[in-house]
Amino acid sequence: MERPILKSPDEIEQMREANRIVARALKLMAEMVAPGVSTLELDQAAEELITKAGAIPAFKGYPGASERVPPFPATICASINEEVVHGIPAADRILQEGDIVSIDVGAEINGFFGDAAKTFGVGSISKKAAKLLEVTEHSLMKAITTMKPGSTMRRLAHSVQTTAEEAGFSVVRQFVGHGIGRQMHEPPQVPNYVPSFGFGEGYEFETGAVLAVEPMVNIGGSAVRVLKDGWTVITKDRTLSAHFEHSIAVTENGPLILTEI
Ligand code: MG
Repeated sequence: MERPILKSPDEIEQMREANRIVARALKLMAEMVAPGVSTLELDQAAEELITKAGAIPAFKGYPGASERVPPFPATICASINEEVVHGIPAADRILQEGDIVSIDVGAEINGFFGDAAKTFGVGSISKKAAKLLEVTEHSLMKAITTMKPGSTMRRLAHSVQTTAEEAGFSVVRQFVGHGIGRQMHEPPQVPNYVPSFGFGEGYEFETGAVLAVEPMVNIGGSAVRVLKDGWTVITKDRTLSAHFEHSIAVTENGPLILTEI
């Protein structure tokens, strides 16, 4: 079973800065998202905020899944509607009234990483889309409450999955959350569903674990595929998908959300 690299209280304190910068960038995104805005404009604004804060955009230059896939070229991932995660910002990707857009931000400072994501409605959105956003965010926030020493990965994954499925939605299985610290992706994997076989209780949370929990929830089926650009993940049935993520430290007093301002 994968275990996290545990952080001391002092290291967790040091991790706050990267995570606060990520939270500030997401707040800026919330203010900017509107019909007519391109995802490239969002990317440039996020990059400016991160670099002015003295931090480094964590996704830019991230290696692709194979040699044929170029490194990720941008500061944010911006994934519109049926796009699940890892959408590449572009000048010709203009947000339209009624769209939803998932924005994922990562930053590094003081040798530590921060990572968070949120899905925003563009102008007024359909009731179904609004429910998807509400349920996905709730699936994250409810799961976070389980992150106490002695609780288990199974309990967290079960919490995310049941919140999404009880609302009639499905969770993406192909992509998962992760430990975070001196690297953006550390062990263990943090699934948003309970695998059918051989999972057991999974990792038992300890004080000092820091995990990025990131449910991706689809209105339709859970299947996804990657587009030819090697990055953009979409739902196979082209239904809407939402993504919410926080980086959270497990402390003796319970979960501490680092990606809040
Ligand atoms: Mg992440």
